[in-house]
Amino acid sequence: MKRYDFGEALNLFDKNFYELEEEASAVRFAKNPLKTVSFVVDTNINYTNICNTKCSFCAFYRDEKSTESYTMSIEEILQKAEKLQDLGVETLLIQGGLNETIKYKYYLDMIRKLKERFPKLFVHAFSPPEIDLMSRISCKTTSSVLRALWDNGLRTIPGGGAEILTEDVRKKIAPLKISSDRWLEIMRIAHNLGYRTTATMMFGHIETHEDIISHLIKLRTLQDETGGFTAFISWDFKPLNTALRDRKGDVSASDYLKIVAISRIVLDNFDHIQASWSSQGKKIGQLALYFGADDLGSILVEENVMRLAGHRNIASVNEIEQLIKDAGFVPVRRDPLYKVAR
Ligand code: SF4
Repeated sequence: MKRYDFGEALNLFDKNFYELEEEASAVRFAKNPLKTVSFVVDTNINYTNICNTKCSFCAFYRDEKSTESYTMSIEEILQKAEKLQDLGVETLLIQGGLNETIKYKYYLDMIRKLKERFPKLFVHAFSPPEIDLMSRISCKTTSSVLRALWDNGLRTIPGGGAEILTEDVRKKIAPLKISSDRWLEIMRIAHNLGYRTTATMMFGHIETHEDIISHLIKLRTLQDETGGFTAFISWDFKPLNTALRDRKGDVSASDYLKIVAISRIVLDNFDHIQASWSSQGKKIGQLALYFGADDLGSILVEENVMRLAGHRNIASVNEIEQLIKDAGFVPVRRDPLYKVAR
């Protein structure tokens, strides 16, 4: 498999759409020769929307004094988990705002009690900015926080908060968020402790093609070192209800598919590329399977972050399976470790 250096990867943006499709598809089948496409039956629990980081692309956060602000108690989270499990949810994707009023113990208790009460549920929780917050409020090292979460039952971490891993972009769209180096450092520590994580990218705002390639190469370099990333997921920025709403419109379907293909080609050491059908719609999700993606991600029984940016795509298990079959592939259910359940 060819390894693209920075300049060669940048030139991929000038390639013909169909050449990209062919090349990305070749890499996809070299990595996963089966015609299987995986998905996970999960839901998003957003335990708080209070956040002082105020990222300009975010429609989800609220000030602590806002009448719309909330923080769920552990009991509320447990009750919600019970209802969701009864609905057939197999994985909980747990993420929240960076709420400095929450105590460190809350995060540990949340994981331990969820694992005690629902041993069959997978808990996929806390992206690097939340781990960083836990480390700051507890005055403990990142490693110690991650070990404590592990001891309470956490095994996988979502790759949120990466946006674009270049400082120029981060300073403009999320100046109060952790740096790209810190995001990578937390993932490195997590992988070395045994965690498996995803990696993400949010594009379609102020980034350049150079920023995108730089982002991908940083992820690839860390993956060479640790092998801890399970999959790469990219989605396009949704401007509605965000401070960046006047900056750019929605990414076109062809630009989205190009990014899926380029990420499949450049991330030669990632096993899986996820198509973000929930941000781009079901038809584009199906097409992305021909541009290098081999995973359709979440059913997302409940999702708040995209919904508040005016974007809502939902599907049942049967619908997702049918979408995959109609696109010419075989649907398989997986867990956050990408182990196929059935
Ligand atoms: S993206 Fe996350 S860190 Fe940024 S404002 Fe929204 S909730 Fe806070």
